[in-house]
Amino acid sequence: MNIRVLGAHNCESQNSRLISLLIDDVLAIDAGGLTSSLSFSAQQKLKALLLTHHHYDHVRDVPTLAMNLFLLGKTINIYSTTSVYDAVLTHLLDGELYPNFLKQPQNNPTVKFTIIEPYKLEQIEGYSILAVPVNHPGPTVGYQVTSPDGKIVFYTADTGPGLADCWERVSPQLLIIEVTMPDKYKESAVQSGHLTPSLLKQELTNFQELKGYLPEVVLVHMNPNLEKEIEAEIAAVARALNNSIILAYEGMQLNL
Ligand SMILES: [Zn+2]
Ligand SMILES: [Zn+2]
Repeated sequence: MNIRVLGAHNCESQNSRLISLLIDDVLAIDAGGLTSSLSFSAQQKLKALLLTHHHYDHVRDVPTLAMNLFLLGKTINIYSTTSVYDAVLTHLLDGELYPNFLKQPQNNPTVKFTIIEPYKLEQIEGYSILAVPVNHPGPTVGYQVTSPDGKIVFYTADTGPGLADCWERVSPQLLIIEVTMPDKYKESAVQSGHLTPSLLKQELTNFQELKGYLPEVVLVHMNPNLEKEIEAEIAAVARALNNSIILAYEGMQLNL
């Protein structure tokens, strides 16, 4: 399994893109930095897009991707829970802000939307996909993706602390999890459903106690302006847990 981090951050600039992951060139998760990271030919190779929740930094490229594919005469399968589907249809592909590509073109609409249920294993393009609720306003699900050859990654999406129930459901070799801000903003992280390094440490400690191991950990959704501080605090967490924890960056490739 090859995973490319297309966008690794929670704010966009010339040097940072919003969160998007691409698995084996065909399966994308979240659409914060999809069209700005991929050539038209790479966009045409996409077979499925999974959305974790309806926040703008995760769904933003749904309209731009749909327009590109519409003009190229291609289609895309998008998967999400009901609330994300409702938000995309009400706010993004509403026929006013942008065309409703779930209905256009009439004979073969560009976007085929499939609603998925949490905890129900789905087969999507040869991958086993499990949506697992996390602790973030939305509601929000993380996705565990298992490849045909048995490689397993879990991407939490945005989440605050309190992942014990979630850990019961997943067994990844690679964990892609968020850390949005450094520890001095812990209170605001908890309030808004995000993690800081010390909150991550607690969640990983719980994981280890529950599962008896720790996966390789890659962090996403960092605030680029606070990244140096996050990095220093994470180095201490990695040392304390004696485990690899690295910060993702745009263009990073992970191989399982
Ligand atoms: Zn969010
Ligand atoms: Zn976010």
